[in-house]
Amino acid sequence: PRILFWHRKDLRIFDNQALIKAFSLSDAITSTYIFDKNYSHDFNASSRAWFLGNSLQELGNNWKKMGSRLVLEEGDPVLIIPQLAKKIDAKFVFWNRSIEPYEINRDLEIKNNLKEQNIQVIETWDHLLIEPLKIFSGNNNPYSVYGPFYKNLKSKINLLGSFEQDKVVFQFKDIDNKFKENKAINSSDSVLEKFIKNIKFPGSNICPCRPGENAAQTLLENFINEKKIYSYNSARDFPSHNGTSFLSASLRFGTISIRKVWNATLNLNSDFANQENYLSIETWQKELVWREFYQHCLFHFPELEKGPYRKKWDHFPWQNNNELFQHWSNGETGVPIVDAAMRQLNSTGWMHNRCRMIVASFLVKDLICSWQMGEKKFMETLVDGDLAANNGGWQWSASSGMDPKPLRIFNPYTQAKKFDPICEYIKYWIPELSRVSNSELLNGEISNLEKNNYSSPIVNHNIQQRLFKSLYAEI
Ligand code: FAD
Repeated sequence: PRILFWHRKDLRIFDNQALIKAFSLSDAITSTYIFDKNYSHDFNASSRAWFLGNSLQELGNNWKKMGSRLVLEEGDPVLIIPQLAKKIDAKFVFWNRSIEPYEINRDLEIKNNLKEQNIQVIETWDHLLIEPLKIFSGNNNPYSVYGPFYKNLKSKINLLGSFEQDKVVFQFKDIDNKFKENKAINSSDSVLEKFIKNIKFPGSNICPCRPGENAAQTLLENFINEKKIYSYNSARDFPSHNGTSFLSASLRFGTISIRKVWNATLNLNSDFANQENYLSIETWQKELVWREFYQHCLFHFPELEKGPYRKKWDHFPWQNNNELFQHWSNGETGVPIVDAAMRQLNSTGWMHNRCRMIVASFLVKDLICSWQMGEKKFMETLVDGDLAANNGGWQWSASSGMDPKPLRIFNPYTQAKKFDPICEYIKYWIPELSRVSNSELLNGEISNLEKNNYSSPIVNHNIQQRLFKSLYAEI
């Protein structure tokens, strides 16, 4: 039978669950990616458009190498998928399942349309370590707290040993001519060419996340083989150390499979003798599970997309001062660690995790702007911008989310002292501060900062913190 394969958040050939299933049924597979006009999350930041465009280019080449083709379309998948399926006379349409509310509803509509045409849809879970409906808390509810979720998930994975991968055919070494091209469709290369021509992302050379399946593999190898994973526990919090994997965009667009990434942490067992190594591997696994956790949460609690998990936050009297927000957004708050981080984001499309937490706390708890303003700015900029992870990160930072800890307020100066003690990160991103002494920077000695063409802090942390707490007391 002829098959239409729809790529979404799985822009890869290797270890792609739905593709493995499709291929076990037939080799007459035509694949497609659709620039969904109703769902612009994949490309509505220039950084993500760059990542997507380049990943699609490589994916298209791989399909060509395999004797078939990636058909690119733009518009509404609700109409396009049934049309394409009809054109190639497909009996089946395969895709990997999504957890986002919009995608779930859209997919349901498409399924119904295809059913009317007598075309069967086969959906598979691929983007997660474990299906959301296969892990529940003791009383059969979805988890809303990370700790017990991690414990349960880890024990389930331990039972498995490791994830099965690429059992069937998807070894790059013998990739040629696996599939048969369907000639019924005209070339759609111009759709990609037009898309790529319109990308305006100045950070393409310096963004640490790299598009495409090959690059994702290289990033993973760098992280594992160069032993960065062994020092992750101590290095991951220092933004100047390059101590993390930079795999976030690859995982978000599925240019690498989460199973492959997880398995890479298991092959290191022989090094467990060293306590620090063991801790580091586990700490990294825990981060992968944060990704997992937020996706499960959004699947079970779709209302998270619209507002706070803790409803009392609906009544918080946000000040939402647009001028302060703009200062934050442009990296011009006069608080060095915050500005360095926002400039890293604006230049490269990526920001270090420690800094994401610092700038989020600053926007919400110092500038008293609603976390949704920050969530939006991140989605407009981040190369790894992902509804579940971003919403989860912002709700965590705002204290409105799942995390039971009531209030978490970061002092940006204390954070900088701890995690950028010799101001390498600050001075790299704010060159006008390169001659200022570290102690002046870390203590926020305003008069000296002003002398160096750098603005004084737009707010006073201690005053704002007291104000925030008093507003919080009201709700
Ligand atoms: P590593 O440290 O190497 O971690 C490995 C992988 O684990 C990451 O690639 C990512 O997939 C996952 N991961 C790590 N930490 C987290 C976390 N806290 N939550 C969810 N997944 C995690 N991550 C995104 O992928 N997309 C987002 O839109 C996003 N928005 C965020 C917003 C805020 C306010 C905060 C505090 C965090 C956000 N994160 C987001 C999480 C985290 O900052 C990034 O995943 C991480 O910095 C990516 O760098 P890395 O790949 O080098 O991570």
